[in-house]
Amino acid sequence: MNVTVLGCSGGIGQGLRTTALLLDDDILIDAGTGVGDLSLAQLVAIDHVFLTHSHLDHIACLPFLLDSVMGKRAAPVTVYALPETIDVLKAHIFNWKIWPDFNQIPDQEQPFLQYRPLSLGQTFTLNQRMITALPAHHSVPAVGYLLDSGVGSLAFSGDTTSCDAFWQQLNQVKNLAHLVIETSFSNAEIALAQVSRHLCPSLLLEGLNQLQSKPQVHITHLKPGESESIMQEINAYRHALNPSQLWHGQIITL
Ligand SMILES: [Zn+2]
Ligand SMILES: [Zn+2]
Repeated sequence: MNVTVLGCSGGIGQGLRTTALLLDDDILIDAGTGVGDLSLAQLVAIDHVFLTHSHLDHIACLPFLLDSVMGKRAAPVTVYALPETIDVLKAHIFNWKIWPDFNQIPDQEQPFLQYRPLSLGQTFTLNQRMITALPAHHSVPAVGYLLDSGVGSLAFSGDTTSCDAFWQQLNQVKNLAHLVIETSFSNAEIALAQVSRHLCPSLLLEGLNQLQSKPQVHITHLKPGESESIMQEINAYRHALNPSQLWHGQIITL
């Protein structure tokens, strides 16, 4: 199982792209602006899209993806998300005002988009790849995901602030090899991190100290222009897990 990083920034500009991970060729984890780099053939190959939450930086390319592959696929694209997230997509994106409702076209029986509501802890097995929704604590209903090849697992936090349930869940994972976790703000912005339900280095450290296993830790969702200072603050802790910055184009094999 390969996880390719299509986007791992908290914003855009200067070659930055927002959150999207490609699992093998057919599964997207979030659909931020990084999806826009894929070729049309690669877009057509995507069967499943798992969303962490409804914020624009994680869904921005979903409407364009559906429009681009419309009529070129034999089966609908399936979007997996919390029921609350699906409600937001229906009300505010695929509402015929912002974008067409691909759940209704060409008709309700064979739509281009189908929804699959999920709940915390639920596991979907797709060609032996297991995808499980993890707890997260954000300003809107949100999940992270555990991607398990059977050999090794990658945990992705999505957007979250401090969340004990997330770390407790990771401590149940026997084969945790990689952790991709957000750190959106610097320590000076801890108040902003807490009110917007994100992490800063000191809050990240509190979480890492709860972790009983030793995965490779990759930092994502850094605020544009602040990635160097955020990583410096993280590295100054000299934590045993020695987190590194996730990079665009990185491929993690499990
Ligand atoms: Zn968010
Ligand atoms: Zn975000």
